[in-house]
Amino acid sequence: MDKIMNTITARDPEQREFHQAVQEVLDSVKPVLDRNPEYRHQAVLDRITEPERVILFRVPWMDDDAQVHVNRGFRVEMNSAIGPYKGGLRFHPSVNLGIIKFLAFEQVFKNSLTTLAMGGGKGGSDFNPKGKSDGEVMRFCQSFMAELFRHIGPNTDVPAGDIGVGAREIGFLFGMYKKLRNEFTGVLTGKSLAWGGSLIRPEATGYGAVYFALEMLATKGKSLEDKVCLVSGSGNVAQFAVEKIIAEGGKVVTVSDSSGYVYDEQGIDEEKLAVIKELKNLRRGRIYEYVEQYPEAVYTQVDPALDYNPLWDNQADCCFPCATQNEINAKDGSHLVNNGVGLVSEGANMPCTPEAVDLFLDHHLLYGPGKAANAGGVAVSGLEMAQNSMRLSWPREEVDSRLRQIMKSIHRTCLDAADEYGVPGNYMAGANIAGFVKVVNAMLDQGLV
Ligand code: NDP
Repeated sequence: MDKIMNTITARDPEQREFHQAVQEVLDSVKPVLDRNPEYRHQAVLDRITEPERVILFRVPWMDDDAQVHVNRGFRVEMNSAIGPYKGGLRFHPSVNLGIIKFLAFEQVFKNSLTTLAMGGGKGGSDFNPKGKSDGEVMRFCQSFMAELFRHIGPNTDVPAGDIGVGAREIGFLFGMYKKLRNEFTGVLTGKSLAWGGSLIRPEATGYGAVYFALEMLATKGKSLEDKVCLVSGSGNVAQFAVEKIIAEGGKVVTVSDSSGYVYDEQGIDEEKLAVIKELKNLRRGRIYEYVEQYPEAVYTQVDPALDYNPLWDNQADCCFPCATQNEINAKDGSHLVNNGVGLVSEGANMPCTPEAVDLFLDHHLLYGPGKAANAGGVAVSGLEMAQNSMRLSWPREEVDSRLRQIMKSIHRTCLDAADEYGVPGNYMAGANIAGFVKVVNAMLDQGLV
């Protein structure tokens, strides 16, 4: 294990998030390798940690003042042992190869857990859609797809959204793909309903994280009724996590963006959530504008000088990090534990540092890792692909009930694997082990490719 980690870090020393994601999986799967000497003989760890293909490209585009800009485009096709590459595109200035590799690596295990036939991939760009006009975003998306189109396809690689890539961007990307290929196929998921999208896809990641939380709570005979919940983020995942928590009788007191967070002691109800959706999805504003409408709420700006995020230092029962990676560090983790939080369900990918996760496990919190808890998004993307292939659209209730069923099954799979390997109740180990075994066995069946 150490040898592999040393090789990976020596090869790409700057890819810290990728090292973090790999280290977590290696720690969990050691007993699996001990039980299956063939895995070591076949060097499965060396193989599964190296992407099958990395695509890096120039994305030139022109702004509204006729200035030319050049961004970098990425697609990491990590593993196709159990199906076509599948995973979102992220547009954010922080994007680099290390971030995309970490996300693609996580995606392999997550997709494996969904029970659907999807390999893992991820892509994106260091383009910042914030503050850009619709025309600028369209020109960027068209230029991005002018290169990506030759690498993807409905049976090869099917991208979707992630941070900075929502319905608007998927529309522009799909339009350009269709023009270049002259074919109408399910090459992207998260499409609009009128042209191949699935009901419940926008809701799926947030709803799924709450369904996973409900399953974890049920093991203790509990529910979300009257539970005070901290949610971070105010984008796609956060909005629908809040919606489902409210529907389950919980009380959400926080939402955030990268500038700061809002604390609403009275709780965010459906009406307030509608205001957040309008603010974020249509006006593309900042979360502090919430307190202009609801002055009883308190806005706290992010202070980059602090070594913790005050959002996580509030009394609560449950916590749903739905913004970004490493948003909960050890100090935040200890605030959560000291403030009585008993459950963490990760809507975002890798939002907790390894030190924070260790604290949660030491204190026996119900901790649902992102690759299990936020798998609902990609699961419904898989259902969107199935509907596209059949040229059918399932009703809302059917997709939602399949999502609920998949989240139940992922929860059960994690618990069973954790039991089998002597770490009962450890969802992180269970998710890593179950996801790993399925992919590795498929790789071995297919030979050294
Ligand atoms: P959105 O772009 O819709 O929203 C992202 C939210 O997180 C915004 O509120 C944003 O604030 C905030 N945020 C982004 N970066 C940072 C940062 N560095 N620090 C603090 N806040 C930040 O993205 P999604 O909701 O789609 O994605 C959120 C998370 O969920 C990501 O980790 C993503 O990988 C994960 N995820 C998403 C899935 C999906 O289906 N969309 C599926 C599975 C996981 P601001 O507006 O200021 O940038």
